[in-house]
Amino acid sequence: MAVKKIHLFNSPVLTLPCRGIVAPITAETEQLALDLKDTLEHHIKKGYGLAAPQIGILQRMFAFVNLRTGNIGIFINPKCDQFSPNIVEQRESCLSYPGLWKSIKRPEWGLFSGLDITGKEMKIKVEGLQARIFFHEIDHLNGQCRVVTKKRR
Ligand SMILES: [Zn+2]
Repeated sequence: MAVKKIHLFNSPVLTLPCRGIVAPITAETEQLALDLKDTLEHHIKKGYGLAAPQIGILQRMFAFVNLRTGNIGIFINPKCDQFSPNIVEQRESCLSYPGLWKSIKRPEWGLFSGLDITGKEMKIKVEGLQARIFFHEIDHLNGQCRVVTKKRR
């Protein structure tokens, strides 16, 4: 087990954009995936996703709970290719900002592409809370978290 410390509140790594990961997948990248999985598993009652910058690594990867299977998956270089014109508003929280909740508008579904942990291309269409998790984690990879962003302005 490698449960890492989660960066909180004013940590600068939470505001910086992350670098893309170049395939083929290295042992170092696999280790990052394991660390993200172990750390998310440890906080599973409080969170559905964890992005690499939240454990201090500025690379484009996040771990997420697959709401259908209950397993933790890994998404590398994720991007949203297409999204619903329907917008849904729901409260979100974040493991890096414990205690904060904010109502955030997100598309109802999204079509996402990137790499899985073996470096293979993956495309996945998800909706509802699963899509919300993906949008939230991609924000982190761009150095943003909307649970707090608007308060700073
Ligand atoms: Zn978050």
